[in-house]
Amino acid sequence: MSTVIPIRAESSAQNAGCTDVVPLVERGQREVFCGLTGIIWLHRKIQDAFFLVVGSRTCAHLIQSAAGVMIFAEPRFGTAIIDERDLAGLADVHEELDRVVAQLLARRPDIRLLFLVGSCPSEVIKLDLSRAAERQNQIHHPAVRVLNYSGSGIETTFTQGEDACLAAMVPGLPSLKDAGEAAKQLMVVGTLADVVEDQMRSLLEQMGVQVNFFPPRNSQTMPAVGPHTRFLLAQPFLADTARALQSRGAQHLPAPFPLGVEGTTAWLQAAATEMDVAPQVFEQVTAAPRQRAEKALTVQRQMLQDQQIFFFPDSQLEIPLARFVHRELGMQLVEVGTPYLHRQHMAAELALLPAGTRISEGQDVDRQLERCIADAPDLVVCGLGLANPLEAQGITTKWAIELVFTPIQGYEQAADLAGLFSRPLKRRLKLAA
Ligand code: SF4
Repeated sequence: MSTVIPIRAESSAQNAGCTDVVPLVERGQREVFCGLTGIIWLHRKIQDAFFLVVGSRTCAHLIQSAAGVMIFAEPRFGTAIIDERDLAGLADVHEELDRVVAQLLARRPDIRLLFLVGSCPSEVIKLDLSRAAERQNQIHHPAVRVLNYSGSGIETTFTQGEDACLAAMVPGLPSLKDAGEAAKQLMVVGTLADVVEDQMRSLLEQMGVQVNFFPPRNSQTMPAVGPHTRFLLAQPFLADTARALQSRGAQHLPAPFPLGVEGTTAWLQAAATEMDVAPQVFEQVTAAPRQRAEKALTVQRQMLQDQQIFFFPDSQLEIPLARFVHRELGMQLVEVGTPYLHRQHMAAELALLPAGTRISEGQDVDRQLERCIADAPDLVVCGLGLANPLEAQGITTKWAIELVFTPIQGYEQAADLAGLFSRPLKRRLKLAA
């Protein structure tokens, strides 16, 4: 059963892009991965953390097949499988979980931060993981800190896993006020590949701005937070984390996301303005990488100019990506779907989209497929489950999840990001030749 609220997308502010857009809202069948997927990039980032999914064999298969292929060391994720005895109430699930955690920590003394990750099965049997985490902390803290969050697939999309994980860490961040810091401190929030993080840190430091990244690479170096914290979101799917930081007094710096030359410049500019960087210093630091990126994009634009693109709602990166491909690569936006439209975090992005863009929020997959096939775009960005059926219809696709796994933020990655859109079109041309 599904409900649709069919409202035609339109903009009342013609010169403010899509600021006042009324999205096409759909609440039907959705085709997305669950929040457990976030473990794949989170476990690579926080290098002394372990993610213990409390779930079923299905959850174990998802994580193992999605993340397990590249493991050369012992993995830092696993699944405590809820079996028939637990479901039938023949075993005390909390006792079983305590036993599994004790075994794990005895075998892996390198773990300093343990996440108990909830799943659909743990939620269905109403297993209270916050109580379990509290109990585990009493046993293992300070050697190991135990936190919990939900990666369940019920009513979520896969990037919400990272949001839930980061939000769970915020209450435990040290207090900036206690550390006696008076000056404004910049924090970049959201998992970035190490190479991107190093580039961003270098650019900001050249401007004289010290920056902390959250999450950090090591759980022992958590950034402090307080009323002097100014934070920039590096990812557009961190609504709960932003709220948690704001409840600690931190202030969000509104900005477009650092995708493409324009997005990266505006994102850095938001930090530079807040941290009182002189305009000529900003120009001096950003000029060379900006010009390099603009040059690299010229080549990609030749392939992508005027190509029509359709985004299915998946990663929550869709609106910033649509802004990038339209404004920097000349692509035509057929539909931009997003699982959720966070108007405040997306304000700067919406203002840069062309007025009248069809923006949809949520999904009714059958209806959206019908629209997509009728529109016959040149390229569709969608989840893995939709890619094959669309390819079978002769429509070229790009897997949305690849855009989350690949380093795409910043100047040096702008051309690589464009390449992710041009490659499927090149492949299609080769196959047709
Ligand atoms: S959390 Fe839910 S959706 Fe995700 S793998 Fe487990 S059962 Fe499937």
